[in-house]
Amino acid sequence: MTTLLTNAWVLTLDDAMTQHERGWVHIEGDTIVALGSGAPPDIPGAEAVDCDGDIVMPGMVNTHCHMGMSVFRGLGEDVDDRLYRYILPLERKFVTAAMVRAGSALSALEMIQGGVTTVADMYYFETEVGRVAAEAGLRAIVGQTLADFDPPDHKDFDQGFARVEELVDAFAGHPLVTPSIAPHAPYSTGLKVMERVAQWSADHPDVPVQMHLAESTLEVNWARDTHGKSTVAVTRDAGLLKPNLICAHCLQLDDADITMMSEHQVCAVTNPRSNGKAGRGIAPVEKLRNAGIPVGIGSDGAMSGNTLDLFSQFAPVSMFAKLLGGSRKPLPAVEVVRMATIEGARALSLNLKTGSLESGKQADLTRVSLAAERLHPIYDPYSMLVFAALPSDVTDTMVAGRWLMRDRQVLTLDRKKTLRDALQIARTFKAEMIRIDEEKS
Ligand SMILES: [Zn+2]
Repeated sequence: MTTLLTNAWVLTLDDAMTQHERGWVHIEGDTIVALGSGAPPDIPGAEAVDCDGDIVMPGMVNTHCHMGMSVFRGLGEDVDDRLYRYILPLERKFVTAAMVRAGSALSALEMIQGGVTTVADMYYFETEVGRVAAEAGLRAIVGQTLADFDPPDHKDFDQGFARVEELVDAFAGHPLVTPSIAPHAPYSTGLKVMERVAQWSADHPDVPVQMHLAESTLEVNWARDTHGKSTVAVTRDAGLLKPNLICAHCLQLDDADITMMSEHQVCAVTNPRSNGKAGRGIAPVEKLRNAGIPVGIGSDGAMSGNTLDLFSQFAPVSMFAKLLGGSRKPLPAVEVVRMATIEGARALSLNLKTGSLESGKQADLTRVSLAAERLHPIYDPYSMLVFAALPSDVTDTMVAGRWLMRDRQVLTLDRKKTLRDALQIARTFKAEMIRIDEEKS
């Protein structure tokens, strides 16, 4: 299969930030073989796509998500004890492989529609998430969560590790789906289990490790009260602060924590909508990046941040940095787009495969229509993407040379069935919430 995209405003996101204003991209199979500007090459038999001057850019990398949780979207908004009042009881009662499958399919649909081509996920029954991602055609890191709060798919950590092993076996050598192990957070696994994960990880160096780190004052207080040090230091002492560890949130950090994270070459994810909505704080994104730590952008689960595209994260990522710095200058739009693409890929150790449009890389890309008046005039395409574009401006999404969406039509999932399945689960949740409210009143 050969595809030739022509008449495109190609943002490559390569090291030189090369743009081709009247550009073309030549794709053979799953790989970009050439790209440039000016007259496109003549390739007999290629599927030629005239992009009408639209932006063609790398597919976006959502570096932290809980795909199964999209069925919780908007549930119990503004209720401060929502996690303990609704979410954990609902998860214990209703989270099954089938529910995770339905939620993950809804999430996959939304991400493809929003131009996301790679996602790092962590949740329960994660083998199902991997299956959904594979069917949807998304590139994914799927992490089996381990936690001590009676989660729905393991009663103890031995069972949790068995789930990890099952996941690793299911996706060994898969071209798109990478299995991963995901200790939930330091306070919800504890030092002993983190040490066990570190040992397991040393025996399985190709399996990425993901965790929530320094997300809340609750976690910071736990680390101080239980271990007399910061949560980052506890993670280091467990042997888990190792190169390429994917750390989500990274909010409650002091300078010593950031130095420690940099010395151990970990990677970070910022989740601004989720953190902002929970009133948790602002991640020190510039400090992390200045310390040489790659920082990706993550949606978190739809329960926390509501949307899974990255366009809706862009303004908060940028504005939080500007508010923190008290100036217009911090985190320019171009840096935000880098974080959403090549730097996010680096944070997941997938930067040799995806995150930029370069010959030899996988053809993971998205087309952003410039039809909307709201986007014009365009002095700077990165500013346009960060502050004016919406996920609905995305018309086409491709992963590994395969179109997942053309002209807003998702080709790999049944939209009606996906929505119907998710809404059926939401009805069950609503009934249970009414019961909980009655019981507590
Ligand atoms: Zn999370």
